[in-house]
Amino acid sequence: MAFDTDVLVIGSGPTGATTALALATYGVDVQMISRTNWLADTPRAHITNQRAMEVLRDLGIEDEVLKYATPWDQMGDTVFMTSLAGEEIARMRCWGTGERRHGDYVFGSPCSLLDVPQPLMEPVIFKNAAQRGAKFSFNTEYRSHVQDDTGVTVQLRDTLSGREYGVRAKYLVGADGARSKVFEDLGLPLEGQMARAGTFYVLFKADLSRYVSHRPSILQWVVNPAASFGEIGMGLLRAITPWTEWIAGWGFDISKGEPEVSDELALQQIRTLVGDPALEVEIVRKSVWYVNQAHAPYFAKGRVLCGGDAVHRHPPSSGLGSNTCMQDAFNLAWKLAFVVKGDAGPELLESYSLERAPVGRQVVERANQSRLDYAPIKACFRVEGAENPIAAGLARLRDSSPEGVAARLALQAAFEFKDSEFNAQGVEMNQRYVSGATIADADGADEVWRRDPGLYLQETTRPGAKIPHAWLVNRLGKRVSTLDVTGKGKFSLVTGLAGEAWRMAVEVLDRPYLRLVVTGEGDTLDPYFEWQRKREVDEAGCVLVRPDGYVAWRSIEPVHDPAVAERLLRVALDRVLARAGCTTE
Ligand SMILES: Cc1cc2nc3c(=O)[nH]c(=O)nc-3n(C[C@H](O)[C@H](O)[C@H](O)COP(=O)(O)OP(=O)(O)OC[C@H]3O[C@@H](n4cnc5c(N)ncnc54)[C@H](O)[C@@H]3O)c2cc1C
Repeated sequence: MAFDTDVLVIGSGPTGATTALALATYGVDVQMISRTNWLADTPRAHITNQRAMEVLRDLGIEDEVLKYATPWDQMGDTVFMTSLAGEEIARMRCWGTGERRHGDYVFGSPCSLLDVPQPLMEPVIFKNAAQRGAKFSFNTEYRSHVQDDTGVTVQLRDTLSGREYGVRAKYLVGADGARSKVFEDLGLPLEGQMARAGTFYVLFKADLSRYVSHRPSILQWVVNPAASFGEIGMGLLRAITPWTEWIAGWGFDISKGEPEVSDELALQQIRTLVGDPALEVEIVRKSVWYVNQAHAPYFAKGRVLCGGDAVHRHPPSSGLGSNTCMQDAFNLAWKLAFVVKGDAGPELLESYSLERAPVGRQVVERANQSRLDYAPIKACFRVEGAENPIAAGLARLRDSSPEGVAARLALQAAFEFKDSEFNAQGVEMNQRYVSGATIADADGADEVWRRDPGLYLQETTRPGAKIPHAWLVNRLGKRVSTLDVTGKGKFSLVTGLAGEAWRMAVEVLDRPYLRLVVTGEGDTLDPYFEWQRKREVDEAGCVLVRPDGYVAWRSIEPVHDPAVAERLLRVALDRVLARAGCTTE
């Protein structure tokens, strides 16, 4: 049966759109559908971490995303207060903007963190995917699929006309979010619990510049009896467009069902959180969302592969949602491209689940733990049993008594503990992949973590880790990252001037998807010796980097015999790409 497309993607959120963008960039025929009329219309994801930005940089849209973003320095501190206009209780350095951590962040990546609300991010990804040839159908609903040895037949429904029709694809990607029907239809297990807590959100417009512009902050926690319930026990004011568009949020008790919140009640709550009883407010939208704690141990079955919220469902704390979604997509897309083009065997796709499912599990645990970790902070703001627990708690924090001293020390410790949410470069960047698409070092030694792996990025060229970022310099004197000279849909063999044997091996192998990067020459000079410091291999050794920037294999020891180099490289590439099972489809 003829194919309508190579890859059909269900969903146009961060997962689906990034998959379509990457596949179109790699020259694969891809079609994406969504049952909605357009892209995200609510500002859910916003914190965009360095690794997601590295993905977007590789796909050539970093500069365009930057145009829509609240810049890194404006993301500011997380501030705790009795209301926006009221008493400020304490502040926390966040997102690597604090002096103590900023250097770690800029040393580890060519990209910054950003705040980009989902309705601004998705159109950039979508537009570029479409410009590069991806096809789209909105108002189109996924109904079911049947897979066989050669492809997948997918039943779709045009929601405008009601017409049902089938599409035949070589592969199906389920990027249809936290209520994924594609995933459900696969019958794969989902471990954990859905809807274990709930939050009410009101999107509103009000100019709050006078309270914020002198202390930029995209997240402000309000310690106030009006919002002291739910798991976190504080109200939230989150900036969407600095400083005129906001979300007000507060927890609710899910055992009592979804709360009825009239516009009057919402207005009253916003005015309380802001601390201005006469504030002019335009309420844009009210919504609820639930705290999920669920992940899939396996993301795929045969020719159907799921990603994003379909397979890991968790709350926004730590800002890992769409960031992880984009990285799922980036991991999957090059593998699909290689298999569809016949450059890799279909077994390569098994590495997708093996590599990304542990990440999914980790982010689900981390995001839920980040919510629970507010408890010690909340405890510092309250004296349980007092007539007014919050007033008593805040008075204690300002008191000169031994209790006051202890409370201030406890709050400092509770804040430092929250670095695991707000300054967690390691959580965001330290993924390690173990699968058939990586070849471990021959000595089999475990990685030794030098510092807390959640807080600190540990750069290494160990197989399964992301290639370290080092600034190189091109022949025009411009700085380029090691990430810029690798990736972009190809494997890269990185060696030094002494790696002549590897240069010859790449020439002899002559694989269209393999490029040679020789540091120290041409457009990849190493004048700061940054790569020399970070590479962990002999100058005549090599690092084989996958299209997604992860190390597939390395030769720590020097190799000077071109025949040996060629054999080692051929074996490594064929193993990583599962080329024994390679067929052109
Ligand atoms: C309040 C809140 C704040 C958040 N903040 C952050 C943050 O700061 N940083 C972060 O990284 N993440 C954050 N997230 C999480 C982030 O929004 C999600 O992780 C992300 O949107 C999931 O992307 P996705 O592409 O997997 O699914 P979705 O974005 O849910 O997209 C699903 C797509 O599938 C389509 N679809 C569904 N069913 C069908 C069907 N049957 N047929 C056809 N199409 C279908 C939908 O129309 C949609 O296009 C936040 C989430 C919330 C709720």
